[in-house]
Amino acid sequence: MQKIKMTTPLVEMDGDEMTRIIWKMIKDILLTPYIDLNTEYYDLGLEHRDETNDKVTFDSAYATQKYGVAVKCATITPNAERMTEYTLKEMWKSPNGTIRAILDGTVFRTPIIVNGITPFVSTWKKPITIARHAYGDVYRNVEMTVDSGCKAELVVTDKDGNEKRELIHNFKTAGIVQGVHNIDDSIKSFAIACFDYALDQKQDLWFSTKDTISKIYDHRFKDIFAEIYEQDYKSKFEACGIEYFYTLIDDAVARVVRSDGGFIWACKNYDGDVMSDMVATAFGSLAMMTSVLVSPDGVYEYEAAHGTVQRHYYKHLKGEKTSTNSMATLFAWTGALKKRGELDNNPVLVDFAEKLEKASITTIEEGIMTGDLASLSTVENKKVVDTETFLVEIKSRLEKLL
Ligand code: NAP
Ligand code: MG
Repeated sequence: MQKIKMTTPLVEMDGDEMTRIIWKMIKDILLTPYIDLNTEYYDLGLEHRDETNDKVTFDSAYATQKYGVAVKCATITPNAERMTEYTLKEMWKSPNGTIRAILDGTVFRTPIIVNGITPFVSTWKKPITIARHAYGDVYRNVEMTVDSGCKAELVVTDKDGNEKRELIHNFKTAGIVQGVHNIDDSIKSFAIACFDYALDQKQDLWFSTKDTISKIYDHRFKDIFAEIYEQDYKSKFEACGIEYFYTLIDDAVARVVRSDGGFIWACKNYDGDVMSDMVATAFGSLAMMTSVLVSPDGVYEYEAAHGTVQRHYYKHLKGEKTSTNSMATLFAWTGALKKRGELDNNPVLVDFAEKLEKASITTIEEGIMTGDLASLSTVENKKVVDTETFLVEIKSRLEKLL
């Protein structure tokens, strides 16, 4: 078989620990034997980030803006322990945070569904994607404790020094107070990314806030979504046969649980934080969650939702066999290759990525899986395999499909 050619480079961001080991295995076993892999490689492994004073992270984000599609391995976000472990020059910031700030993106998280691993919510048949707004609200809050007898006010001063003032509360007894904000432009970017992603996935978009209680703050979110939808997306959604649907957050929660899935749920920052953990857990496993960062100008960065699986890595370093699930990392690769193929009009590449996804799902459905899934799967005659064997099993099924 002739190897598949790629016209435009894919931005490849390598990472840390067990996921770095898996990264190489995926390439060696499942990609390079079939594709003339054309990537622009950035090593975001913590050692190399430290050597380059984190320049490599910035460069990889700029390359993503240039080429349009990236695939990223999980990376360590350093803390005090990691400072000593890697003798770092500085406590470098989270690479995901840096990349997200440059691309101004929205993160979409989707579970990989396989037969035999039934969601805890029995009606869910299709994946539910959570889109989380990644700016402001409680994550950029200002808060204080308030003594009894104090008065708290909200004050906004314009550029000429004029004040707008509103009483928050007269504290007869001690309490707490918090100020939060958001920015129209950020909400607009979020809305555009959600509408575009819904069209890309051909799935309905739901959006929920608490606008009945927060009549200015949350209502602003609702209005911005509605305006952009009416102006730029209504006819596109109708042509695509999908729907945009706004509802209150509590109504959304009730509807999500009763639904059969297959839609995108856009959430404000805090709601998205909480609901993505709920959805991931209810679908079964963090190791089966994929994640894609989509910028308002249509740039895509694919990754797994989980971290570097540190505990497994230390086992691996001791020479012990590991049984680490590579599905989410593999789907980051197939997602990126499919997108690259679509943008470059390269149907052979898209077809290969789809077959690779099918082969990996079949592998699990036929009972061959890593340890994390064994306790969840209802398939009979399960066989738990090690990290590498799982990929080799996928390969044998891929070859049949090619
Ligand atoms: P983690 O790597 O997601 O792992 C947490 C636990 O979940 C693991 O110990 C493992 O449980 C299980 N798990 C996660 N992925 C798995 C997989 N693919 N296969 C099998 N089991 C899996 O989170 P963490 O241990 O909190 O974080 C480790 C490092 O990752 C940290 O340095 C953090 O900064 C980084 N991180 C990076 C990203 C990112 O780059 N996107 C995201 C999150 C965290 P058992 O050990 O019980 O088997
Ligand atoms: Mg969270």
